[in-house]
Amino acid sequence: MPQLVDPFGRTIDYIRISVTDRCDFRCVYCMSEDMTFLPKKDLLTLEELDRLGSAFVGLGTKKIRITGGEPLVRKNIMQLFRSLGRHLGGGGLEELTVTTNGSQLSRFADELADTGVRRINVSLDTIDRDRFKAITRWGNYDKVMEGLAAAERAGLAVKINAVAMKGVNEDEIDTLLKWCGDRGYDLTLIETMPLGDIDGDRTDQYLPLSLVRGRLQQKWTLDEIPYRTGGPARYVEVRETGGRLGFITPMTHNFCESCNRVRLTCTGTLYMCLGQDDAADLREPLRASEGDELLIAAIHEAIGRKPKGHDFVIDRRNNKPAVARHMSVTGG
Ligand code: SAM
Ligand code: SF4
Repeated sequence: MPQLVDPFGRTIDYIRISVTDRCDFRCVYCMSEDMTFLPKKDLLTLEELDRLGSAFVGLGTKKIRITGGEPLVRKNIMQLFRSLGRHLGGGGLEELTVTTNGSQLSRFADELADTGVRRINVSLDTIDRDRFKAITRWGNYDKVMEGLAAAERAGLAVKINAVAMKGVNEDEIDTLLKWCGDRGYDLTLIETMPLGDIDGDRTDQYLPLSLVRGRLQQKWTLDEIPYRTGGPARYVEVRETGGRLGFITPMTHNFCESCNRVRLTCTGTLYMCLGQDDAADLREPLRASEGDELLIAAIHEAIGRKPKGHDFVIDRRNNKPAVARHMSVTGG
C-alpha cells in the first residue's frame, strides 16, 4: 500500500474533510454572530469531495473524519458518507467518522450507522440549558439531547467534545464527567485555540487544561492509558466511572511531533497544519482532468511541505488569532 510520509518522517494517514463552512449554531469561541460564508458555487460537489477522499484512501489514508461548519446541514450529505463508506471493510479505509454539534442527529443517526460510521464526536460544552444557549447562541438544547438518544439507539459510540472555558463552563467539568460516565460516553476536553476573529476576546476564555486536570484529580482517580484514536488527544481512564477522558492541549502541550493528519476544506484547499497558513489548492488539479494523476502529484507536493508544527500563543500581549481563518473553515 502506498503511503504519504512528510519531511519529518510522519506518516499521514488521517484526513479531516470540512464539507461546509456553514453552521446552524454560532458558538462564541468559534464564530462571530454575523458571519460571511462562502458562496455556494465555490463549494466542491459531493462527487468531487468523494473523488478527493478516495484519492487519499488510495494513498494510504486509514481514517476520514467529516466535519465543518456543521457537516450534517449540508444538503444530501449522506450521499458522501455512503460513497466514502465503500472503502471500509477491506478497501483500505479503517474508520469513517464525523464531528457534529448534534442538531441533526435525530434525523441521521440510523443512516450514519448504515454507511459504516461506528463512532461520532458530538460537541457539547455544557449540559445546562441556559448556558448552552449562551455558548451556542442559536443552538436548540432539546434537539441535541434527542440527537444523542438517537445515536445511542443506532449503536453509535459517542464521544463528547467540550471546549474548556474560563468562567463559562469550568465549574461544570466535573458534572460533565459524571454525566458522560453515566451514559457510557467518552469525554474529550479541548483548549480554546486562537483561530479567526470572534466577537469577544479569547484571553478571557482561555483555560489551561493542566489546571483542569489538577482540579479533577482532587476528586477522581485518573489512570494513564495508552488508548489513542488517531487524533491528538491523550487519554486517562476515570476509575470511578470506567469512562475515558481525553485532553487536547494545543496550547499547554504541543502535540505536533506525532501529527498524522491534514485538513481539506469544502473548496478543495488542503491545510497541512491547523495552526499555519500554508495550503495547497487541490481543486485545480482535481478539475484539470478526469484521471487522478495531477491530483496525486499535487497531494505529494503538499505533504512535502507539511510544517513541523504550530505556535499558538494566547496572552494579553498576543491576543490576535494565530491564523485568520475560523475553525469552521478547517473543521477542528
Ligand atoms: N460543527 C461541528 C461541531 O461543532 O462539532 C464540527 C465543526 S467544529 C469547528 C469542530 C470542533 O472545533 C468542535 O468541537 C468545536 O468545539 C471546536 N472549536 C471550534 N472553534 C474552536 C476554537 N477556537 N478553539 C478550540 N476548539 C474550537
Ligand atoms: Fe458551528 Fe461547530 Fe463552530 Fe459551534 S463549533 S459554531 S457548532 S462549527
